[in-house]
Amino acid sequence: MKLLIRLVLLLSSGLIFLALAVVIQNVDPHQEIPTTETYTFADTLAYDQYDLDSLIAMIGDNKGLPPGFEVAAAIAYTAYPQLKDVNIDMVFTQGGAPMMASLDIWSLFGSRNGRRYKILLNDSKDTYFDPILLRNLPFDAQVGILAHELGHVAYYHQLNLLEFGKWGFSYLQSDEYHAAHERSTDLMPVYHGLGSQIYQYAYYVRHDPKGGELYKGAKEFIDKYYMTDKELWNVIKSE
Ligand SMILES: [Zn+2]
Repeated sequence: MKLLIRLVLLLSSGLIFLALAVVIQNVDPHQEIPTTETYTFADTLAYDQYDLDSLIAMIGDNKGLPPGFEVAAAIAYTAYPQLKDVNIDMVFTQGGAPMMASLDIWSLFGSRNGRRYKILLNDSKDTYFDPILLRNLPFDAQVGILAHELGHVAYYHQLNLLEFGKWGFSYLQSDEYHAAHERSTDLMPVYHGLGSQIYQYAYYVRHDPKGGELYKGAKEFIDKYYMTDKELWNVIKSE
């Protein structure tokens, strides 16, 4: 019995220590401006021809491409040369947020090279999110929003286990932190040469007759957590 009590005490003090270690981390919700060289892409990508094999050769064979959207995804990956050696998959789901960057939590315990990230793409039918799901976006907007999601991956990849814990806690617990992180992640495509594409996404979501359907009822939420087309335009213009 005594041994059991000791074991419980040891485990709970270990957990308290871990929780404290997470709490004392200082994790800025803002994205960093990349210091490495980035590409510049054309303002409109939709009408060009792309050779998927050449794109895959650029991004590495550790990247998953969602069926039917291979080219848009591969272009978004090429914008992040710093993720060339990182394992990232893009998979369809039948629920959840329209898109979400996640990681295999267990891979956080191993070396950074072994981390596995996944971008979840809601592809369910008859959902409230229908107007803004990947399948309904114009090509350039697809590239733009996938580049936003890869911006999350670039951010996660810089965090260690404790920092990731603090980030997750802050993101869920504070609206301001959540908004600062998402709005800053909207700038990642801009930093990586795909400013026109994230602008086209933001414009589509707000002003397209079909895409804007959801926005009508969710304007306050969307404009709080994501940059508007006008805000993005001002940033792109001042670059
Ligand atoms: Zn996001």
